[in-house]
Amino acid sequence: MVKPAEIMVVTPHPDDAEFGVAGTVARWVREGKSVIYVVCTNGDKGTSDINIKPEELAQTREQEQLAAARLLGVREVIFLRHADQTLEDTPEFRQELVRLIRTYRPEIVVTADPYRRYIWHRDHRITGQVVLDAVFPYARDPLSYPDLLKQGLHPHNVKEVLLWASEDPDYRSDITDTFDIKIAALRCHQSQIANNLPPDWEDRLRQRFRSMAEGGDFELAEAFHRAEVQWRLARSPKK
Ligand SMILES: [Zn+2]
Repeated sequence: MVKPAEIMVVTPHPDDAEFGVAGTVARWVREGKSVIYVVCTNGDKGTSDINIKPEELAQTREQEQLAAARLLGVREVIFLRHADQTLEDTPEFRQELVRLIRTYRPEIVVTADPYRRYIWHRDHRITGQVVLDAVFPYARDPLSYPDLLKQGLHPHNVKEVLLWASEDPDYRSDITDTFDIKIAALRCHQSQIANNLPPDWEDRLRQRFRSMAEGGDFELAEAFHRAEVQWRLARSPKK
């Protein structure tokens, strides 16, 4: 029997969770909550270096993700190891996520907002969409994926989904005390920093998370769109 986790973070690539939610993850861990990561792709196309082999890059990125997770106090990292840029909204991918949700039984699931318009990495869009579908209704309904039920994986009601990189944020999480850990976790992803980020990325990120806190009574925040999962209305008892 797997020990349940209060929070499940589903990230399209190694490093997205650190950009999106690592400050909040560090705070949850400090509060004694149990957090697990599910990493959907191996990130084997995340480079502009044509000399690097995809298998090598995938291995490097797995190690980077493990180092970042260790630093944050994430309990476990599950690698689904799909090839980068190949995620599709399929019953198989959805079932993988339903299986994990029913196994770890989280209250909160965190992932990328699939509804970001126009330019958005396809893996981010697909991950967000499939996570939302997996949470509701597939993880909840006993007759979805009957094989899972036969294996003892009973339905589970996730309470809420937090979506990072949302164009419609309505929930802010105070990361003033954990911003430094977030940056340290991001520094673990050296293959991506070297490749994608300008030299002053740390200052720029501080600025970005400061603007997410604007109007609040804290200095730095991660912002999300929060989707609460509605339970079925209880049937009135028969008279
Ligand atoms: Zn990504």
